[in-house]
Amino acid sequence: MNHPVKYWSYLEAYAQERGELLAAVDRVFSSGRLILGEAVAGFERRFSAYCDTTHGVGVNSGTDALFLALKAFDIGPGDEVVTVSNTAVPTVAAIRATGARPVFVDIDPDTFLMDSARIAERITPRTRCLLPVHLYGQLVQMQPLLELAQAKGLYVLEDCAQSTGASQDGRKAGAFGDCAAFSFYPTKLLGGFGDGGMVLTAALERADRLRRLRFYGMSRNYYSDEEGFNSRLDEVQAALLDFRLTSLDAKIARRRAIAAQYDHGLAGVGDLRIPAIGRGNLHAYYVYTIRTARRDALKEHLTHHGIGSQLNYPTPIHLMAGYAFLGLQAGDLPVTERINAEMLSLPLYPELTDEDVETVVACIRAFYAGG
Ligand SMILES: *Cc1c(COP(=O)(O)O)cnc(C)c1O
Repeated sequence: MNHPVKYWSYLEAYAQERGELLAAVDRVFSSGRLILGEAVAGFERRFSAYCDTTHGVGVNSGTDALFLALKAFDIGPGDEVVTVSNTAVPTVAAIRATGARPVFVDIDPDTFLMDSARIAERITPRTRCLLPVHLYGQLVQMQPLLELAQAKGLYVLEDCAQSTGASQDGRKAGAFGDCAAFSFYPTKLLGGFGDGGMVLTAALERADRLRRLRFYGMSRNYYSDEEGFNSRLDEVQAALLDFRLTSLDAKIARRRAIAAQYDHGLAGVGDLRIPAIGRGNLHAYYVYTIRTARRDALKEHLTHHGIGSQLNYPTPIHLMAGYAFLGLQAGDLPVTERINAEMLSLPLYPELTDEDVETVVACIRAFYAGG
């Protein structure tokens, strides 16, 4: 009766879209322009419009989108950027790449997102920027955060890598901050076939600066206005992503239907807690993360029955060897640490069938029934 269910796979989507995707690649290869051509420019326009903002600058990864946005704020050594320890490593790696120091706020125990009510405690004279991470597919509570940033004169950079297409009070992720960073890493809500990222901003001057920063600091050929980098979104990835953007809302709707099926099948089972939705949020369900004190045993049970699951994230960044130099210890972020030990993400991608989801639900119910 049981059949295996993978945690994630792109192969079903590729099989469905193969003809259009290969045609898009052929158009780029035949265009006569392989770097920063029409495919990138067109995708920048359509993606920024989709996200309710004005300018998009395509770069080579979500990490670089964060890094270059911070550079465009002139953030560097001696500055502090307030974010969370419950995030993907690249959020913090991008801050460090500028030479600035990450400062961590604890998370909300229900949504597992930055606790907006606790940001003020972390602000010092060195704070320059608030970096909320819209993790798992839903947004951090933005109103109190924006009010605080305004009162203290801080930049706001949204990490939207996991929340493309999600919204709060009808406004899309990426439309709130001074800049927003997106990733098109293959697993993401809008995923490519390799690396890619984008910075969004409503300010034309900042967009122009970002265009220079991604292109050796140049605004005209062979002349650098400022120190820059090489971080360009590839024409091929842009063409593939532009095609996929047309079905993103349908894919998110399918994700939401799968999440509803999980909610229905798992509510009230054992000590398990289904994902909570933040006020005003439309959740895009990049991942479906449950919470249980029996996390490790449940994960083992699922693996034994051929069902994939994942920890997002098993170790908070402040407790990783790579960030020991920050001088933080176990106990410094109690909510983050407790929740990291209890959360488990279940398979969720649009091509899962209702039967796949039912299989996962039945397997989890059997675990709690002692089967
Ligand atoms: C994926 C991700 C990134 C980085 O994106 P890359 O494209 O892999 O560099 C940054 N922040 C978060 C929260 C992510 O999930």
